[in-house]
Amino acid sequence: MRTKLSNQFFKNFLVIFILTILDTILAFVLLSFASGLIAGSLAKNRYPAGKIVKDDYNQIDSSAVVQNGGGVQVVDEEYRIVYSKGLDTLGKDRLTAEEFTTFLRESKIKPYHYDILYHPKGRFWLIVTFPTSIRIDFALVYNKAAAAGDFMRAGWAIAFVGIIYLSVLALFALIYSRITAASITGPLHKLCDGTRLLREGDYSVRVDLRLKNEFAELQNTFNDMAARIEHEMSLRKKSEEDRRRLILDISHDLKNPMSSIQGYAELLLKNSNMTWQERNEYFEIILNNSKRANRLLTELFELSQLDSPEFTLKLAGTDVCEYIRQICGELVPRLEQEGFEYNFNIPEDKIFVMLDIDRFNRIIENLANNAMRYNPKGAMVTVSLTVKDDQVLIDFSDNGIGIPDQLAGSIFKPFVRADDSRNSKTGGSGLGLSIAKKIAQAHGGDLVLLSGESKGSTFRITVPKL
Ligand code: ADP
Repeated sequence: MRTKLSNQFFKNFLVIFILTILDTILAFVLLSFASGLIAGSLAKNRYPAGKIVKDDYNQIDSSAVVQNGGGVQVVDEEYRIVYSKGLDTLGKDRLTAEEFTTFLRESKIKPYHYDILYHPKGRFWLIVTFPTSIRIDFALVYNKAAAAGDFMRAGWAIAFVGIIYLSVLALFALIYSRITAASITGPLHKLCDGTRLLREGDYSVRVDLRLKNEFAELQNTFNDMAARIEHEMSLRKKSEEDRRRLILDISHDLKNPMSSIQGYAELLLKNSNMTWQERNEYFEIILNNSKRANRLLTELFELSQLDSPEFTLKLAGTDVCEYIRQICGELVPRLEQEGFEYNFNIPEDKIFVMLDIDRFNRIIENLANNAMRYNPKGAMVTVSLTVKDDQVLIDFSDNGIGIPDQLAGSIFKPFVRADDSRNSKTGGSGLGLSIAKKIAQAHGGDLVLLSGESKGSTFRITVPKL
C-alpha cells in the first residue's frame, strides 16, 4: 500500500513530540538531582536560622551570614527590628502587624531566601536572608484529603486544557506535515511528469522547478540527461537517414552500369551477324561500364575502410614544402596537356608534418582531378602553402565554375555532386571529396571548402605542424 508523504511526516512529528516530552521529564529529573547535589554547599543551607539562634539575640553570631552576602534580623513581639546585621530587605525599624503578615506571605515569591524562626523563649522572630542565586519553582501539589468534588472539577479542568493542547498540537503537526510534504511532492510530481514524457519519446522535455535546493541539482541533472538523449537521438536519426540515403545512392549508381553491361552482353550473344565495328563498340561500352562500377565499388570500399576502427595511418615526419613541390612538379605535364594555366606558391623553408604519403597523395590527386575535370580548359589552377599558428595550410584553388553556395555545406558528403546527372560525362562517383576529408581528418587536420571566393573554388587542407 502506498503511504502518503504527509502521513509519514505526521507520524514522524508525533514520535518527535513524544521524545521531546520524555527528554523534558529527564531534564527535570536531572535538575532536581543536580540541585540535591549542590544543596549542602549553598550558603542558605549552611547557615539556617536554627543553627545560629541564641536565647539572647544579642549573642547571635551573624558574621558568617554577612560574609556570605546575607543578613540577620530579629523582630520582637511588637514588630520592632531589634537586631539587624548585613542584608536588610525589611527596610524599616518597625513594622505594622499587616506589613509583617504581608512580608511572611510574600517571602516565598521574592528573589531572596528567608529562613524565619520564632523563638518562643526569647519571644522574637529570627530572620536569616540570603539573595537567591537561581530558583526554579515547579511543583505538582495535591492533597488526598481534599473534597472529591474539588478533585473532580480540577481533574476536568486539567483534562480540558490537555485535550485543547493536544488538539492544537495535532493540528499544527498536520499543517506542518502537509506543508513539508508539499515542498517535496510538488517538485517530485514535476520530475515524474518529465520522466514519463521522456519515456514516451518527447526528448524536448525540460523541467523548471524554480528552486535552489537539492531538487535544483536533480532538475539540472534531469535536464542535462534529457538534452543528451535528445542530441543522441537526433544523431542516431541523422545517421540512420545518411545510411538509408547511402544505400539508395549506391544501388542507384550501380544500377545503370550493371543494366548497361547486361543489356549489351545479351545483345552480343543474341545477335550473331554484327559487324566487327559494331561488336567492338558494344565491347567498349561494356568495358567502360564495368570500369565505372568497379571504380564505384573500390571507392566505397576505401570510404568504409576509413570509417573502420581498425584503420590506421603509416605516419612519417615529412618536409611538407618539399613534398608539395614534388607533387606540383608531377602535375605540370598533366595540366599543360589538358590546357590549364598554373601557379604554385610554396615557400623554400623546411616545414615538417606527420604524413602517410600514400593516403595524402589521394587527397591531392582528387583535388587535382576535380580541378581539371570540372573546369573549362584555360582555367588557372593555384597551389599555395602557408603556415598559421601551428597549422600548415595547403590551398588548392581554381578560377573555374565554382561550387554552388547551396552545396557548400554538403559537398563533402558521399554521392553529393554539383552536376547531379548521375551518368554525366564526368563519370564522378561523388565519393572523392568525402574520402579526401576523412584522410585529412585522420591526419589531425581537415579539408574544407573556403566560402566567399569570387570565382572558382578553393579547397583548404590543414595539417598540424610538428
Ligand atoms: P566526384 O568528383 O567523384 O563526383 P567529389 O566528391 O570529388 O566526387 O566531388 C563532388 C562534386 O563536387 C563533384 O561532382 C563536382 O560537382 C564538385 N566539384 C569538386 N571539385 C570541383 C571544382 N574544383 N570545381 C567545380 N566543382 C567541383
